[in-house]
Amino acid sequence: MPAARPLDPGTLLGPVWIVSPHPDDEVLGCAALIAALTDLGREVHALLITDGGLSHPNSRAYPHAHLTHTRLAEWRTGLEVMGVPEERTAALNLPDGMLEEVDPAQIQHRVRQAFAAAPPATLVLPWRRDPHPDHRATWRPVWEAAPPSARRLEYAVWLPERGDADAWPTTQEVRTWTLDTGAARLRKAQAIAAHVTQMGGIPDDPDGFTLAPQMVERALSGPELYFESLNQPVLNALEAT
Ligand SMILES: [Zn+2]
Repeated sequence: MPAARPLDPGTLLGPVWIVSPHPDDEVLGCAALIAALTDLGREVHALLITDGGLSHPNSRAYPHAHLTHTRLAEWRTGLEVMGVPEERTAALNLPDGMLEEVDPAQIQHRVRQAFAAAPPATLVLPWRRDPHPDHRATWRPVWEAAPPSARRLEYAVWLPERGDADAWPTTQEVRTWTLDTGAARLRKAQAIAAHVTQMGGIPDDPDGFTLAPQMVERALSGPELYFESLNQPVLNALEAT
């Protein structure tokens, strides 16, 4: 990991938008930051890209519509714990696990519509090479939907857990920021606990997803990791391809 510096949340201007491919990415990856920002009085909005409907495909107790409805409610409860009210949440309900098959232009259009009410001065989105296909498919359309002037921080969710060497950023690519979970640890734990369906709360699907205790412990212990692109030419080069 590139040398890191501590992030001062006070340097981040509002409106701040926190983007999650799935309900729970934000509690795992940036709960302490969200709590710090709302404590500072920043206007924080949250945007959910997929419906989270793939976590328990075989559950009879939680058929697809019930699962997605429940996960949306869990997402909002977790955000509420971190100080983000429901009226500052928006959900696109795109298909979980299949974002790579959705037209990026369509994703970008929907994200831009969501941002229109309060264009982000700060955009917090998953790291572009976070090791989950939906996270990688989220990055570009969300990045491009934000105003060019927005400060962009990319957060790690699965990177410390599953990332190989190629997934990690290089010192030429980014500045790395860390945020201790410290004072926010209890709220972060409460926010993660809101995601009952991901914590073993659906017992009738042996193939269902459960957050591993070590993943939760790693998220709680911190620090949270944020990557900031060192120069806009990185984006310009991407756009030229
Ligand atoms: Zn995710």
